[in-house]
Amino acid sequence: MSPTSTAMQIREVGPRDGLQAEEPVTIEARVTLINALAAAGLKHIEAVSFVSPKAVPQMAEPSVVMDQIDRQADVTYWGLVPNRRGAEFAVEAGMDAITVTISACPVYNEKNINRTIDESVEAIGDIIEVADGRPVDAVLSCVFGSPYTGDEPTASTPELMTQLAGRGVTTFTLADTTGMATPQRVERVLEITGSDIGLHLHNTRGTALVNAWHAIGLGVRRFDTALGGLGGSPFAKGAGGNLGTEDLVHLLNDAGNETALPNDTGIDLDALMNAGPDLAEAIGHSLPSPVATHGPR
Ligand code: ZN
Repeated sequence: MSPTSTAMQIREVGPRDGLQAEEPVTIEARVTLINALAAAGLKHIEAVSFVSPKAVPQMAEPSVVMDQIDRQADVTYWGLVPNRRGAEFAVEAGMDAITVTISACPVYNEKNINRTIDESVEAIGDIIEVADGRPVDAVLSCVFGSPYTGDEPTASTPELMTQLAGRGVTTFTLADTTGMATPQRVERVLEITGSDIGLHLHNTRGTALVNAWHAIGLGVRRFDTALGGLGGSPFAKGAGGNLGTEDLVHLLNDAGNETALPNDTGIDLDALMNAGPDLAEAIGHSLPSPVATHGPR
């Protein structure tokens, strides 16, 4: 996608990253959420993950979820996959595309994924083999700072991306796992990686939307967001919620053509707003997204 494109690609991660941070909800609630997101116009949905249900009970039964959703031909359903076995299940479940995670911070990788960077690269190579030509997006965690080592490990990021691209990774998403990014840090990282990446921003310190806005100005056109701003990681203390889908769509809707910034998300904000109450009921508390809370302007 060219940097001057006005089309935005928003990948909704609420059914995976969002619900993973909550107490487990029913399969029915997960299916309802995924269907509502597709109906609201989201064309990319991270619907499930194929991790161990013992480690992450919130994501149990991914194949059942995929069987039960009202599958749309024009929606790409993404599944998070940790290893070869997970990739086999993902292919069986008919996932369109696969996300894998690896950390830009080696200490974080070892503490949270229990693998060295090299071991993770090997596992991703295995997954790509099984994925058999499906798109594989590598989500690089802690690119903007690590809870273990502090400032952004930018030096190692391009090297890691080159290594992974060599293994067949098709796209990259840079994640601010614990909400350490600021616009200046986003700019610094983009100077090294270029803008043909996705951003996965967390709002731990209230900077997700301002980081997104700055990145859009710098040409980034792909974002991960979660309905209601849910999220965080059960493995990353203090991860905080994801950038809310409502919040980004609301901002872009009002950007208008005169700003020459993209406002073409193809997403119906009213439909998103209508999906919020069901989600809040399923998780048993209100949604942190400001737009979900206060409504659009
Ligand atoms: Zn996230």
